[in-house]
This record gives sequence, C-alpha cells and structure tokens, in this order.
Amino acid sequence: MGESQVVVGLSVPDGARPAVVHTYRELLPLLRTGPRAVVMTMGALHQGHLDLVAKARELMAPVGGQVVVTVFVNPLQFGPAEDYEAYPRTLPDDVAALTGLGVDLVYAPSVVDMYPAGPPLVRVSPGPLGAVFEGAIRPGHFEGVLTVVLKLLQRTTPTVALFGQKDAQQVAVVHQMVSDLDVGARLVVVPIRREPDGLALSSRNRYLDPAQRQVALALPRAIAAGEAVAAAGGTVMAVRAAAWAEVADRPGLSVDYLEVVDRAEFTPVLDAWTGPALLIGAIRVGSTRLIDNAPIVIQATSGGGPGA
Ligand code: AMP
Repeated sequence: MGESQVVVGLSVPDGARPAVVHTYRELLPLLRTGPRAVVMTMGALHQGHLDLVAKARELMAPVGGQVVVTVFVNPLQFGPAEDYEAYPRTLPDDVAALTGLGVDLVYAPSVVDMYPAGPPLVRVSPGPLGAVFEGAIRPGHFEGVLTVVLKLLQRTTPTVALFGQKDAQQVAVVHQMVSDLDVGARLVVVPIRREPDGLALSSRNRYLDPAQRQVALALPRAIAAGEAVAAAGGTVMAVRAAAWAEVADRPGLSVDYLEVVDRAEFTPVLDAWTGPALLIGAIRVGSTRLIDNAPIVIQATSGGGPGA
C-alpha cells in the first residue's frame, strides 16, 4: 500500500485515490463496461473543475459508473502568441485534489501519446461558431478544442461528458459537434464557480497581480449588472448598456467583447429580442485574458421595462 509515484505524501487511504495513467495503452484495460462520466481538463485544478467532478460522481454513484478525469494541456488549441509553454502544469497537486472525490481514473497523457504521428492532419471544424467571439480572437482555437475533445471521447468512451458554463462558447461548439457527428455521449453543463468577490475561477487568474485582480473584477460586475437589468425586465439595449457601464474607460483593462447573443448560435440578438439569451464578455488585463458569461432571459421589448 505504498504511495504512488505521482502523489507523494498523501495520508488518505489508497482506495480513495484515483489510478493515474499516462498512455492510451494503460487506459484501455481500466475502462469498465457500463456507465462512465468524463471530465476533461487542462489541469491546474480549482473548485470550478472539482464541481464538474462532483457532478460526475453524483451521476455515476447511483448507477455504479466510473468517473474519469483527463488532464491534458492541448497544444492544438493555443495560438502561437498564447501561453502554451507557460500554462501551469501541476499534476501531483491535481491528483491530490481529486483524491477522496470518488474519481476512479486520471488519464494524463503526453503530447506524444495523444498525437503519436505528430499534429493531426484531419481536424474537426467548428463551422460558423468557430469564427465569432472567442473563435474570431483565437483563430484555430475551437478546431483544436473539438479535435482533442473528440479524441478524448473516443479514448474514454463515456456515457456522460461534463463541461463548465464558464466556457460557454466551448459548450456550444461541443454540443454542435455531438449533434452533427452523432457522438454517443450525453453532455452535462455545470454552472460557473466564482470567488466570493465574483471573479470566475480560472487557472489563468494566477497570472494577475493584486492590482490587476481588482481591475479584473469589472468583468463579473459587468455580467452581474446586465443580469440584474434583464431580471428586472430590461431590454437588450438596457442590458448591454448596464454591462458596458462597468468596463468602459477603466484604466488597465481592454474589452475584447461584451454582447448579448443567441445561446446556441452566438450571433448578437436583435434589439427587439425577447426570450433566452446569453450575456458574454471577455477582457484583457495586462497580458491576461478573462472570459465570463451569464444566461439571461429578456422579457421586455423597447418601450417597456426599467431602463428601456
Ligand atoms: P480547463 O481546464 O480550463 O480546460 O477547464 C476544464 C473544464 O472545467 C471546462 O469544461 C471548463 O469550462 C470547466 N471550468 C473551468 N473553470 C470553471 C469555473 N470557474 N466554473 C465551472 N466550470 C469551470
């Protein structure tokens, strides 16, 4: 009952610790028949990731299913000027964080294990969703995401795959892929986990210094302001205005986008829109990009509701 090579110094019983494998070869024989939930991550785990894991466990426990967490920093989804090399890699801490949460298996492959023949020649195109907002700012990002998500789905063969609402456009493109390509996994989306001050948890928050961290709060405030106006019956224009008021002319930040969009298509909704929508935002603070969003329902058309 010794400590594994990956997790050093844990005092929890071995039974509570997930098995950790690094290759597809090692993974395959450990996959049982029956239900399985997979949570795909890039590691540097925080409570947002652990919420997904808890949900996976909740879904699998009654049916005796397996819970698999993947940890892989996928080079395909990083642009040339992005933080692929610098992205935090903290596998021992990640395994420690997953210990005792009912995770059966951690699959943490190397780049060579995932892409043995080099970068894949055939990739999954995200279609129109890949060309707007995050896709417009990060060309190739969603192609890289979908390619690795499909590969991880093929390798882990889950009945359920869990994703965070934090990455709303990722959820939309993965939904589209699962629907268009007949992928046989059910998707479950877990709400955004926030710090007490409202900042959405992200592995990239660690790049912010204390002053930048304060500046960054403008983004969750913008999202919350828009949400409040929508809840009070405001129009699309009123929601947009309330959100923008929180970020406009703030020293130390620049806005990539802040918009009310269709939940599935990520096209801006018309000013006269009523019904479900999504308020999405992305800002830069120094060299750190932050994203946030909230599902909203627009009740009022122009002429009615507060701030209309
Ligand atoms: P990542 O490691 O950033 O690729 O994230 C792995 C999964 O965790 C994705 O489905 C994310 O949407 C989800 N996730 C990341 N941050 C949060 C958060 N603050 N709340 C909920 N889910 C999150």
